[in-house]
Formats: sequence, structure tokens, C-alpha cells
Amino acid sequence: MKREVSGALYQEAQNYFPGGVNSPVRAFRSVGGTPLFIDRGKGPYIWDADGQRYLDFCCSWGPLILGHANDTVMEEIIQTLHNGTSFGAPTRLENKLAGLILENHRYIEKIRFVNSGTEAVMSAVRLARGYTGKNKILKFEGCYHGHVDALLVKAGSGLVTLGTSSSAGVPEATVNDTIVVTLNDRKALESALQTYADDLAAVIIEPIPANNGLLLQQPEYLRFVREITQKYGVLLIFDEVISGFRAGFEGAAGTYDIAPDIITFGKIIGGGLPVGAYGASREIMSAVSPDGPVYQAGTLSGNPVAMAAGFAQLQKCLEPGFYERLEARTRQLTNTVNEHAASKGYLFKMVQQASIFWLAFGDGSPIRSAEEIRAENMQWFNKLHTYLLENGVYLGPSGYEVGFVSDAHTDDLIAEAAQQMCKGLDVVFGED
Ligand SMILES: *Cc1c(COP(=O)(O)O)cnc(C)c1O
Repeated sequence: MKREVSGALYQEAQNYFPGGVNSPVRAFRSVGGTPLFIDRGKGPYIWDADGQRYLDFCCSWGPLILGHANDTVMEEIIQTLHNGTSFGAPTRLENKLAGLILENHRYIEKIRFVNSGTEAVMSAVRLARGYTGKNKILKFEGCYHGHVDALLVKAGSGLVTLGTSSSAGVPEATVNDTIVVTLNDRKALESALQTYADDLAAVIIEPIPANNGLLLQQPEYLRFVREITQKYGVLLIFDEVISGFRAGFEGAAGTYDIAPDIITFGKIIGGGLPVGAYGASREIMSAVSPDGPVYQAGTLSGNPVAMAAGFAQLQKCLEPGFYERLEARTRQLTNTVNEHAASKGYLFKMVQQASIFWLAFGDGSPIRSAEEIRAENMQWFNKLHTYLLENGVYLGPSGYEVGFVSDAHTDDLIAEAAQQMCKGLDVVFGED
């Protein structure tokens, strides 16, 4: 594969942006090589600046559940554009998208649109604090919640720890109000709640943790998290920026039938344009300004073009059989590759939930917490990534990232991708 044009653009970009990118993982630092600059996408495919085509399993990191440049979504965007792009005043399109969501989602009663997943989480944390009058937040090691100061923390040593900052520029005073515990560890959570409940506003979790591998939690554990937060009078925030409208229209809340207190959204909700949102019961949402004392605002929030794109996409998701079809296709991919890997005895397993998958190198035993991921196994992923890229299959450029199947990935394309992955594993493990 050629990298001439992408390489030149990347070089130019180094003069403009830190690391040549506007979001760090795009820089290909973990897999090595030059990032592809993308010229266009259609359906399941993207084309790079050198004119080469790839079957895309990154799908913009999740938002594009219908694939690239979906005709229906594009049509809605174009029609809306003719009427202007932003007013800073309410439009009927906000009602339309909110109505569609609230009618079909049993776990929230009111919603507020923002512009990104990070903003949704930041606002949800403020809401939890403002509503409860408490300050501390508990998060889990291995869950990502955007670049919110209070949540850019990693665990210190020990069972229950006050967070240590995982980014320069995040004040110690901020992370001192964040408690970090390990996923899938009931004792750690219970002991943290015993110690901190009086000052703990909320526990925040990715119910389907998909930003540090795919750390699938057992439903019983998630129910435990719900029950024990209720017992200690602490709010539970489901960060469904990835899982919302992906694991099913009602996300993880619907999949497990667990009602959190606040849910955050992003990615799919905007149909490929920048939208985030948070929702909760009427009672909790009444704390948000201008109804209540928790201030939160946005010049471009509820942007009409973005609302139109989100509406068009979510309406498609509501068609009967949509999620079943996506899950079946993803299952076909993971089954084919896993059978091949097992028959060869490779230390590898594809993990799946709904239309999310993760390529996990290791002994195949379930990985439910961040500390169970072995960093040295990433070298295998990096080799596979290089092979697949050379052969026209695009994955997010990090072994800690998951892949996404869209409705544009047909059965035939899935079968083709599975064969490429099998061949790639043969190459990686030196058996071809
Ligand atoms: C992507 C993501 C975010 C951050 O969303 P941005 O739109 O990138 O700011 C937050 N939480 C989760 C679970 C995510 O997957």
C-alpha cells in the first residue's frame, strides 16, 4: 500500500497540530507507521488520500452505525442545511430527536443535548454533584469517560484508592475527589461505599466497558453495582456514549434491564455529527438550569443539522430486526475467526457484545478488568493491524480499541473480513 500522499499530509499536519492530529490515537503511535488521511467514505468503505480503499471497522470510533455517508442521513442533512446551520434559539428538530429518543427509551424521562461525549459526562457529573450536594465521584479503572478533568485519573495502589492524575494539567485537588476501584471487584466497591458514601455524589461506569479492550461485565455484577449504590444513597451514572443505541436502542440499560439514575450519550446519537446528551428522570433533570441550580449551556447545543442527522440515523435503528441483524453479522465474524484461532491453538480470542468486537491476544480466559490486559500482548495486535491495513481492512490503530460493525457491512463483506483476519493471524503467529 502506498503512503505518499498520506505521508506528505501528515508531515504538513505536524506543523499545525501537536503530533499532527486533533485527537491522539489517530497518530498511529501504538501501531507505528503513518496515519492514513481519509478522503471519503461510503457504506462500509473508506478511501485514503492515496486512493486506496479499505473495509472500515473503526466507523469513526462508533458513531456510524449505518456506515459512511448513508443516503437517508445525508438527505436529512442536506435538506436541513438549506434552512441555515445555527440559530442559538430552539428549533423543532430538537423536539423531533428528543421525542424519538424518549418515546423509545424507558430509562430516561428528560434529556439535554450537548456537543460531545466528554461534555455529556462533564455535565452529568456536575448534575450528580448539584443534585446530591455531595462532591466525590467513584469511577472504575479501565473505563474511559472522555477528557473530563475529574475522570482523567488512574488507580493508585491498593484495593480502593484516591485517584492519581493520568494527565498533566489536572490539579491534584480535582482528582482528590475521585475514587478509583477495579472493575468486577465487589469487595472494593462495597468498601469504597462504606468509607465515602456520605460525600459520594455518584458512581460512574461504562456498563459495557469498550475503551480499554472490551471488558465485558457479568450481568450479576452490574446488578450488584445498581443495588449497592441504591443501598448507600449514591447516584449511578451509566456512561453509554459507546453502548447507547449500539447495544440496542436502549443501550446497556435495556440489555440488562438496569435503571441507572443518569445516562450519558454521544457517538451514534449524532449520526456522525458532533452531538452528546445526558438524560435522567424528570426529578433529577429538574435540577438543570434554567429549571434548577445546575448551570449548563451551549452556543451550538441542539444544532439543527446535527439533530437532523441524529434523527435520521436513530429512526433507521428503530426498524424491526435492525439490532438482531447487526449482532448476527458480528457473531459470524467472531465465530469464524475464533474457530480458526482455536483450531490452530493461537493465543487469541475475539470478544463480542452486540456489534462491538475486540481482538484480544492472550490465553482466551475472560478479561473483565484493566489489570488483566497484558501490555506485552499488544505487539501481536500491532502486527495484525499492519497486515490487515496492507490487505484493505481498517481497524482503529490500537490494540486497546474495539471495532464496530455497521449495517453497511453485508454478510459477504463480513465473510471476506473474517478470512483476512484468519490469514492475518496465520502471518502473526508465523504459520502461513
Ligand atoms: C467516546 C467516549 C467518551 C467521550 O466522547 P467524545 O465525544 O470523544 O468527547 C466518553 N465516554 C465514553 C464511554 C466514550 O466511549
